[in-house]
Amino acid sequence: MFPRETKDYINIDPLQTGGRLTDKARKALVEWGDGYSVCDFCITGRLDEIKKPAIYNFVHEQLPRFLGCDVARVTNGAREAKFAVMHSLAKKDGWIVMDSNAHYSSYVAAERAGLNVAMVPNTDYPDFRILPEKFAETIEDTKRKGDVVLALITYPDGNYGNLPEVKRIAEICSEYDVPLLVNGAYAVGRMQVNLKELKADFIVGSGHKSMAASGPVGVLGMKEDWEEIILRKSKKYRNKEIEMLGCTARGATIITLMASFPHVKERVKNWDREVEKARYFASKMEELGIRQLGDKPHNHDLMFFHAENLYEISKRVKKGRFFLYHELKGRKIHGIKPGLTRYFKLSTYGLSYEEIDYVINAFAEILEKYA
Ligand SMILES: *Cc1c(COP(=O)(O)O)cnc(C)c1O
Repeated sequence: MFPRETKDYINIDPLQTGGRLTDKARKALVEWGDGYSVCDFCITGRLDEIKKPAIYNFVHEQLPRFLGCDVARVTNGAREAKFAVMHSLAKKDGWIVMDSNAHYSSYVAAERAGLNVAMVPNTDYPDFRILPEKFAETIEDTKRKGDVVLALITYPDGNYGNLPEVKRIAEICSEYDVPLLVNGAYAVGRMQVNLKELKADFIVGSGHKSMAASGPVGVLGMKEDWEEIILRKSKKYRNKEIEMLGCTARGATIITLMASFPHVKERVKNWDREVEKARYFASKMEELGIRQLGDKPHNHDLMFFHAENLYEISKRVKKGRFFLYHELKGRKIHGIKPGLTRYFKLSTYGLSYEEIDYVINAFAEILEKYA
């Protein structure tokens, strides 16, 4: 057995809150856990064409509608989806322009695709915002160095939970004739996002991060103009898409994604309530002298905090900077990285108000204990 200690904890790690399985997905996980389980049902040699279980319907009907795109695929993760796009568009001495709040996997995917990376600066402490005009400036500067083949915006970013003005950024990119990829790893499956409304070219989501799926699994949506390029097929294996390496999620991962999907489609409608909860949490933390950074008022469950008071405590207690982790663990709260006290992120997604109050009280108690 491999017991998992954190299973019954209140988990406020942003990585974890949107990836918890629904009961249906948990059952499906066991049913479809064997290796290539879905391949028993493959007739054409194409994962996305399996009719039963209803993968075809999911990939070609439900997912495009949900993402507001023309064409969609299931990938092995958000990063694999980004890489597929970057690799398809890459050319020698080509550049990608991305926001400096981007996830490391965006940067690494670009490196793997052989692209040069230009970063759009943020506004720095305390808001760390990405302004559309900075996107224009960076594209302008980079164009002088070479071909800008793609732009990427992280929506929201995984550090501050900031939601930049994608529409405006998309307009700017299209003025420069640069396609835009929206990295919605923390958006797709939490809040309503629609590629057409955002006026971008590509959208990427993460199943295990935000769609209640057992990963690794992700989604990729695009406008139909890109289909021929991104989903081009092998010369030898005529039905196999090269960037998908033929087939992607071919077992329990895609089935759990599909099993949770009806729930996910509904839960995005309750996004306002998640934002309200996050704002409530942030306001209570501020009352404790812990400052919320990034967009304010905040528009996402992922929040970044600056706690000078906890940092001061860490300098004089026996366990040092690990004291906060242990204090929270003792209260069955998991999710702030061991060793962090001054700056940390957390998420209130899916928590009840009772659980939120419990977490707030834990912080209050800890501050009082070491006052
Ligand atoms: C978590 C995260 C990713 C990576 O998602 P995977 O599906 O695990 O590849 C990418 N971008 C952002 C912003 C993230 O937060």
